[in-house]
Amino acid sequence: MRLEQYILNFGAKFNRIDDYMRKKRANPEYRRIITGKKWQKLRRMKMLKNAIDNGGFCEQCIKDYIAGGQRPRKAIEVHHIVPIESAHTREEMEALAYDESNLMALCFECHHELHRQLWKARFNKAQRQLDKARKKETMENDINDYIERIKKGI
Ligand SMILES: [Zn+2]
Ligand SMILES: [Zn+2]
Repeated sequence: MRLEQYILNFGAKFNRIDDYMRKKRANPEYRRIITGKKWQKLRRMKMLKNAIDNGGFCEQCIKDYIAGGQRPRKAIEVHHIVPIESAHTREEMEALAYDESNLMALCFECHHELHRQLWKARFNKAQRQLDKARKKETMENDINDYIERIKKGI
């Protein structure tokens, strides 16, 4: 079954978050945006804005700290809340990439964790689709068996 193969491939390829990040960076359109002047400038602006608004601390760490977590770490990376690569067209990709409200200034640890969760959500969604397809297949097989039995007069 195609979907089953997809899940297997998905599991093998994206076994580790590092592999997922490597795959993402290999996307030519993604590379073009991330290495472009427009993104570099927006990224600097976001870091500067975060320095003013949050003292340069990680936005996720601050959320966690307010909820009783550990002391915040400094933000060193800028994250896209809705991933650029989730877009289907070049225009959509650019819209997500350059949307200031789609950005978060994060520390390395929180950035890694957020991407791990994103990957997990995608994997779980694919798994649910597979379960649904399997259930449908079982139902269709039962119906076919039933029809066969009627034909044979069993
Ligand atoms: Zn953090
Ligand atoms: Zn990110």
